[in-house]
Amino acid sequence: MIPYGKHHIDEDDIQAVVNVLRSGVLTQGPTVQAFEQAIAEYVGARYAIAVSSGTAALHLAALAAGVGPGTSLITSSITFVASANAALYAGGKVVFADIDPDTVNMSAVALQEALLNNPDTRAVIPVHFAGLPCDMKAIKQVADRAGVSVIEDAAHALGAQYPDGQRVGSCAYSLMTIFSFHPVKAIAAGEGGMITTNDDSVYRKLLRLRSHGINKLDDPLQLPEQGQKNGVQYPWYYEMQELGFHYRITDIQCALAHSQLKKLDRFIARRRVLAKRYDEAFASMTRCRPAQSAGRDQSGHHLYVLRINYAAVGLSRSQLMHELRSQGIGTQVHYIPVPAQPYYRRLGHKPEDFPVALHYYEEALSIPLFYDLSDEQQEKIILLFKEKVG
Ligand SMILES: *Cc1c(COP(=O)(O)O)cnc(C)c1O
Repeated sequence: MIPYGKHHIDEDDIQAVVNVLRSGVLTQGPTVQAFEQAIAEYVGARYAIAVSSGTAALHLAALAAGVGPGTSLITSSITFVASANAALYAGGKVVFADIDPDTVNMSAVALQEALLNNPDTRAVIPVHFAGLPCDMKAIKQVADRAGVSVIEDAAHALGAQYPDGQRVGSCAYSLMTIFSFHPVKAIAAGEGGMITTNDDSVYRKLLRLRSHGINKLDDPLQLPEQGQKNGVQYPWYYEMQELGFHYRITDIQCALAHSQLKKLDRFIARRRVLAKRYDEAFASMTRCRPAQSAGRDQSGHHLYVLRINYAAVGLSRSQLMHELRSQGIGTQVHYIPVPAQPYYRRLGHKPEDFPVALHYYEEALSIPLFYDLSDEQQEKIILLFKEKVG
């Protein structure tokens, strides 16, 4: 069975994890910091804070951006549910914006409208869908005008670049960027996430929130008299200054992810070659087309999504997926519009309010794209699509 996505592990990765197991330090050790520093350097941000998942990263980023009761957060209608859930974890409300039909990313025009209708908005989470960077210049301009913070959901986009050549994660157009190291993403930690930022006070807040809300670095004490006697500091003293979480990641996970990071450019180069080969193969087909065609040299190529006219093909999507599966090819749909989820419908969201996202959802199908996909496997997939979809 060829899955739609898969991680790649080699002997260097295994050795890196074994080294941590032998080191005597499993968590809160030097491997976490080394990985944070490597990510910060790679993306070109001042700070990087590693956490237990991309979802934890989104939760803390929403809090650090000031999302809370009585405020709203705007995100894309086509994303993984976690981008929206972050608003609710923080005690706020979520507002969805429709997508741009050519990029599948949040439309800056839809964002502007959502901002006008929701003046209590504190943050916006654009999602670099399938690894293709959003039009961050336009999004930042609209967000800045409304005085709203931007948090980039770059779970798909580690290694991607903006048109100006800066890497996603540099926070050139945002307050914070989040990444995920789930095995299906660009690099694997097992489970893991990261937040990058250039803002010193956001960095300090994130460090506290990651670990129970306890003071970090040289945070001023709130009750300094409780921590000393006659000017001598108590060595055990610490303060829980706000309600934080246990969202730390282990050195074991960071050792794996750091070892993977060294191969990231190779991973992406291969994904790009495969994506361009699909583009060429499908260019002549009349009943399907790639969901994204611009920005092929900027994208992190997390997913390869086709838009298929199933009625013209004479097969429902479900039938096509079953037929492909019987031939050993796994496919998936990314994503069901989040406002169509039962939980969000119960909160009053209506998928019909996002017609571009709904139309995209009717046609979408993700086909296999990952580093280890061989030329032969890809050829088999292309031939099957030419035969069945044409
Ligand atoms: C994977 C993903 C997340 C969540 O990351 P986890 O590490 O699985 O918690 C968030 N947003 C998007 C767009 C994702 O694809």
